[in-house]
Amino acid sequence: MTEDLDWELIIIGGGPAGMTAAIYGARYGLKALLLESKVLGGAQATSPGIENYPGYTFIVGIELATKMKEQVRKSGAAIREITDVRSIVRESDDGDFLLDTRRGVYRAKAIVVATGGEHNQLGVPGEERLTGRGVSFCATCDGPLFRDKIVAVIGGGDTAVTEALYLAEITKKVYLVHRRDELRAEKAVQDYLFKSNVEILWSSVVKEIKGDDLVNEVILENAKTGETSSLMVDAVFVALGSRPESGLAKSIGVETNDRGEILVNAKQATNIAGVFAAGDVVESMKQIAVAVGHGAIAADSAYAYIRRTQRGPIGYA
Ligand code: NAP
Repeated sequence: MTEDLDWELIIIGGGPAGMTAAIYGARYGLKALLLESKVLGGAQATSPGIENYPGYTFIVGIELATKMKEQVRKSGAAIREITDVRSIVRESDDGDFLLDTRRGVYRAKAIVVATGGEHNQLGVPGEERLTGRGVSFCATCDGPLFRDKIVAVIGGGDTAVTEALYLAEITKKVYLVHRRDELRAEKAVQDYLFKSNVEILWSSVVKEIKGDDLVNEVILENAKTGETSSLMVDAVFVALGSRPESGLAKSIGVETNDRGEILVNAKQATNIAGVFAAGDVVESMKQIAVAVGHGAIAADSAYAYIRRTQRGPIGYA
């Protein structure tokens, strides 16, 4: 079967924001396509547990992602996974968008950029060389490999703390290594942490991750005293947040802030007509509940834009 390359709405990125935009777009009757460079799910899929998404007092990230994916399929939106958008060009100032992928060049009247973020790295010696050999960026993915072992989680945000709590249930010992003496994670999550058996190493900066073939040691420096120390561990889970994946959007003139997050108005519209943005790539709170809201608004605005520019005015938007 030949690939259908002509679409009204193309959504780039299959996390909660992109999946919601696809569901809403399809329900508006738009011919909508969701492109994802890996598999649908987004960052939520790697969370060991989510307690603040309404409707679920607790749900494992991959389960929530799977439910959203089922809903996209039912909505009628088309999905193409493992389909990286390599570049975008626009035919003219108000023309169609052409998205180059391995499957061909897709054409769209409007696009929603929901590309999320990429994991931050420590940037210390040993991190890159030992990635996949004890250095991991996903506790739910790799934690079970370290049952009954000693592990360190690096970071002080919600991801680091929830990953440390998850790992405490399946490993022998967990250290949480944080560069400051207070956590960034939300209070409810901190309360769980302080009641757990996770050992917190405050004001500790990772200087090096060591190991011949597999991780066996982390070198730390105390941020207050400058003293260095050694921590013997079998794995290091790096949980330092993410940076926005806004390169594609920037390439077509979309404005960002100095952190690279896309600037949008209340309708999730960027400065470029026909380009909407949603989720963690946008300047906003990085939460699933927020991303879902962005996705719905972005699809609604894209629908209004397409109606206005392609199908004639209907007194809408
Ligand atoms: P985050 O909130 O940005 O926290 C990143 C952590 O990494 C901070 O503690 C930061 O330290 C530390 N860090 C950053 N760069 C570092 C470096 N080079 N060396 C050492 N430490 C470094 O990221 P996140 O925890 O991934 O959370 C991102 C967003 O997702 C947040 O809005 C969070 O609330 C949300 N989230 C929600 C849930 C949930 O609701 N279940 C779960 C995960 C994430 P400093 O504090 O010193 O800056």
